[in-house]
Amino acid sequence: MAGLRRMGRAALGCVAAAWTLVGCAYNPATGQKQFTMIGRNAEIRLGAEAAPGFRDEMGGLVPDAAVQAYVADLTRRLAAQTEGDYPTLPWETSLVNSADVNAFAIPGGKLFITRGLVEKMTNEAQLAGVMGHEVGHVTGRHTAEQISTAMLIQGGAVAAAIIVDQSDDPSIRRVGRVAVPALAIGGQLVMLKFGRDDELEADRLGVRYMSRIGYDPKGLRQVMELFDRMAGSDRPPSFLSTHPDPGARIAQIDGMLRGEYAHTQGSAQFRLNETEFRQNVLARLNALPPAPKAKTASRDPALPATWCGVCAAARYEELTGRSVDPRDAVAALAAAEAPGRPIHAWTLARAHGHE
Ligand SMILES: [Zn+2]
Repeated sequence: MAGLRRMGRAALGCVAAAWTLVGCAYNPATGQKQFTMIGRNAEIRLGAEAAPGFRDEMGGLVPDAAVQAYVADLTRRLAAQTEGDYPTLPWETSLVNSADVNAFAIPGGKLFITRGLVEKMTNEAQLAGVMGHEVGHVTGRHTAEQISTAMLIQGGAVAAAIIVDQSDDPSIRRVGRVAVPALAIGGQLVMLKFGRDDELEADRLGVRYMSRIGYDPKGLRQVMELFDRMAGSDRPPSFLSTHPDPGARIAQIDGMLRGEYAHTQGSAQFRLNETEFRQNVLARLNALPPAPKAKTASRDPALPATWCGVCAAARYEELTGRSVDPRDAVAALAAAEAPGRPIHAWTLARAHGHE
């Protein structure tokens, strides 16, 4: 798996001359050249197609129009600070009615945050930090990179032929067929986990966007501290499985607060907004029936639906006493024990931390 990952990384680094047919474009958010096989229009279409499924799986929208509007407005203000043509993406934020603690972004500006995470927050700057971070995943085009890697690995030469996003409809239809399965595998939606570098980049972008609309970037640090505390509990939030290493992220934010963003500290221009958050968000959420219990099933490594190759190989050996190559493990295990859904072993292996 590490080999595949390296292959993807090399391609993503725009170093593979063979891939000159595919996009190696300048990203105005990061200031870097970036390899992706899907472009803006394909991302928008992908996100629009996948968003309803994620929303349903995560308990649907929190049934309070005022809180939804509040979160959407905050995200719109952050998105307005993004670079290039990112502000005109069809940004959409779903506050989903789940007690799970998580936030994530899918391509095309579709963002999700759970009620469970919002209820752990104490001020607006924390929310701005998390949403700014998710906006940063979109403008960093991290999902597009991952899907491109998956296309390279799964599709190889075929994927190369699907040079997407010529913005004419047929080509977008083609990418839809290939890339949507990267988000919805075997009928199950898979949250893509980003690597540590992507997380750190999303934090840098998040701090940039939140401070541009007057929030104290310390809010993002406070969220990291929250996760750090929760990581030690017996029920670590699923956010941690999609967002690794809060310690490194805190260290980076501290460096930024001492350096480029020192002017935001101790300045009345950069706010935390505790009272506003309590009144506009927490009080309203409190008045609703509690969110349905966290759905941990989709993240439980003991369940077939979340077996990655490495975990499946271990389980196969446990059951049969025979070992199996992790690359074949999911199929072997499915045959031995659990006929059922195909599993995107590569994505899950990353989600389980087997790089
Ligand atoms: Zn992230």
